[in-house]
Amino acid sequence: MKDFIEVFVFNDQPTNCPICGLRTEIILDLYDTIEQTQFHKCLNDKCKFEFVMQKDDKNEARSKTLDT
Ligand SMILES: [Zn+2]
Repeated sequence: MKDFIEVFVFNDQPTNCPICGLRTEIILDLYDTIEQTQFHKCLNDKCKFEFVMQKDDKNEARSKTLDT
């Protein structure tokens, strides 16, 4: 399931659907866990885009590991 969900990074803005820009609902909130991940689903009936939000720090740490 996780394989076909796109991953986005948290920013200062409230989370909106990256496709249509409407509000999303949190399907699964793992932000307080080590994963620091939220699964979102677009509230637009015609869109229903599902995506994952992750904390930026984690991605940076991962790319640093890959660089060295
Ligand atoms: Zn949408």
